[in-house]
Amino acid sequence: MDELLNGLNAAQRSAVSSPALVLQVLAPPGSGKTKTLTARIAYLTTVENLQPWNIIACTFTLKAAREMKERIRGIVGDIVVNKLILGTFHSVARRFLVRYGQEIGIPKNFGIADTSDSKAIIKRIITRGDYRIDPSQARSRISGLKAKGTTAEQFSATSAASKKIDQHEFACVYSEYEETLKISNQLDYDDLLLRCVELLTKHPECVSSIQAVLIDEYQDTNNIQYEMMTLLARKMKRITIVGDPDQSIYSFRSAEIKNLYRMRAAYPETVVVNLEDNYRSSACIISSAKAVIEQDENRPNKSLLPTHCAGEQPTLRHLATANVEAQWIVGEIDRSTKLCAGLLNFSDYAILLRSAALSLSIERELGNAGIPYRMVGGRRFFDRAEIKIVLDYLRVINQPDHNDALVRVINVPSRKIGEPTVKKLLEEAETSQMTLWKLVLDCAQGRRKPQCKISTQAQKGIDTFVNLILTSRMKLFPAEDEDCNLYELINHVLQKISFEAYLKATHKENWRERWENVEELIGQATQMATAASKGDDTLEDALPVVDGIDQRQDTAADLLSKFLANVALSTEMEKEEGVEQQQVTISTIHAAKGLEWPVVFIPAVYNGSIPHSRAEDHDEERRLLYVGMTRAQGLLYLSCPVKQSSEGETTLSQFISSPRIQRFFSLRGPSFGCTVIGDLARILRRPCPSARDVEISRTLVERFEDDRYPLNKDEIDGEDSSWSANYASSDVRPQPYKRRRTEPA
Ligand code: ATP
Ligand code: MG
Repeated sequence: MDELLNGLNAAQRSAVSSPALVLQVLAPPGSGKTKTLTARIAYLTTVENLQPWNIIACTFTLKAAREMKERIRGIVGDIVVNKLILGTFHSVARRFLVRYGQEIGIPKNFGIADTSDSKAIIKRIITRGDYRIDPSQARSRISGLKAKGTTAEQFSATSAASKKIDQHEFACVYSEYEETLKISNQLDYDDLLLRCVELLTKHPECVSSIQAVLIDEYQDTNNIQYEMMTLLARKMKRITIVGDPDQSIYSFRSAEIKNLYRMRAAYPETVVVNLEDNYRSSACIISSAKAVIEQDENRPNKSLLPTHCAGEQPTLRHLATANVEAQWIVGEIDRSTKLCAGLLNFSDYAILLRSAALSLSIERELGNAGIPYRMVGGRRFFDRAEIKIVLDYLRVINQPDHNDALVRVINVPSRKIGEPTVKKLLEEAETSQMTLWKLVLDCAQGRRKPQCKISTQAQKGIDTFVNLILTSRMKLFPAEDEDCNLYELINHVLQKISFEAYLKATHKENWRERWENVEELIGQATQMATAASKGDDTLEDALPVVDGIDQRQDTAADLLSKFLANVALSTEMEKEEGVEQQQVTISTIHAAKGLEWPVVFIPAVYNGSIPHSRAEDHDEERRLLYVGMTRAQGLLYLSCPVKQSSEGETTLSQFISSPRIQRFFSLRGPSFGCTVIGDLARILRRPCPSARDVEISRTLVERFEDDRYPLNKDEIDGEDSSWSANYASSDVRPQPYKRRRTEPA
């Protein structure tokens, strides 16, 4: 117990060991909410003796789920942690549907349509029907309706009376979309939650063993997630949520800040705990972030106290253009990591963006400088062309009725089945109310002659394809004495379609890199299968089983659907964790929620970027900047290009343009030298630098005299050249890291 509460402050401890059944921990960024939630899970299993399979914990991303799992593992060990039901709302919903979905008519092997799958389906429907609707808008509208619980039938019924054409067209798109998902046995993200709510409502016995529900980043839950939470906690009404209204940034996903108050009304016994100490950032960073968020006059004032010393003021820099801005950022990272080699790594830096589209010039500069980076919340590893092909094959093998995946790969590599033929076959399948797979299977096995004319060559191609899928599916369900793993299955497919040769032929310039990506994918699949066989994977299906003993062995088929679900549910990953390389992180601010880095850059801080030109809710945009700024631990750099490439002059974001706010920044013009190094060097002048800071400063001073390091004294000194003199004089003694209250000294 002591070990469990060690390293927590008094308020955190009281939350962790609170006897309250319903608990809300509301606190600002960096105050240890996630840490507290993690400790409470450990507390429930060790002190309150709850079984891990009786506990559900929902996080915002799969990555957060993994991190939390690792932290809990450290406290309670492997066996317990692997049996926790821990994941995103979507992955938790999926587990219940896999286990109990048949009760409400969902076949066990359902697939998951991710955002791009959904978009592709909608696009096809719109093109076929010649509707004048924008696919992306249609998708978010459907998602919005689903989040509100409006079905396609209900929408059609209400829109029938409408005189607006687009209303009718949209009703058709919605209905056809739902039909397509049903035929191909897929659920989209919204369905996962909706159907889970339906399941739990109709079959409360599914959650009869659940004794506690815990939720991180509660401020961003939407109404369906709220409902799911109450249903999951139906038996024991034991709920812990942690959140921060100031960090609510997902209203575009129908997140409802009101859910905090709704919860208090529904559970009058709710106990609220506030945490006030910030353990993440330097005091200067906190002051500047507070100044930004406090411009929102409608928000209640809250206290946020630094536990670290002042540190360096955040920098606000104007640069000529976006390219110069990117060069500056990359230059700073390059020089400071070289100079502080061994002390600062690439993974200590993050570049946080309002929108992923801003990343282009930064990615190019990082590439030029040979600096490794990972892109979070942008284009995913799984969205690369070569990876998509392999995944589509796996989707078809897992579930041949997946029309979209089948259409994408039936002629890749070319089997001489032209696009018009595929289109005609698809139409024929749709009019005969069957899936494309059933149609081509019937044709290949001679049970049916297609109505459209098909060349002998194309028919041969179809036969080969059908054969490949059938033999691969046989591997999924091997005879009892045979063994098949995902590795063999994927290799079988790749060999049969000669994929390496195909890449060589189609992408002469970079086939090697693409093939490496494919190998990486195989590695991930195998890794996941190995983890699953040890009972340890994020999507583990070990749901409330009697005594937590899950007798079921994972078959190759189970593993394949799990792997594909993992892919579909990963919202942000570049490559799976485990690849612990030293990389700079580029992320959208949205995807950086809950994370922290020693050095953070937020470029493009101008009106139109943040607040975004299309954003209606400027308070939410301000909160977004606040979330971004509070990711920084030691150094924070905001910058703004004076000129945007095409659209002329920019104006500094309204959130930081007032003189009152600017007091919290050091304003640096183009003539100022290398800021990161300057800031690091000046750290010595702080009243209480941390041990690490001192180490960095000392190294800088040593390297300062060393010709091998590209360092220019004037650059470092900036406005003040006293730092090295200070260091030399013995009266500046590094003081120990200032700690407060319960932190171990
Ligand atoms: P966010 O709102 O950004 O998600 P959070 O409130 O969840 O932040 P955590 O991520 O849990 O904050 O904690 C922030 C940092 O502070 C982490 O590095 C964590 O380990 C550290 N921390 C939290 N509590 C303490 C404490 N009592 N003593 C020392 N360090 C702490
Ligand atoms: Mg957190």
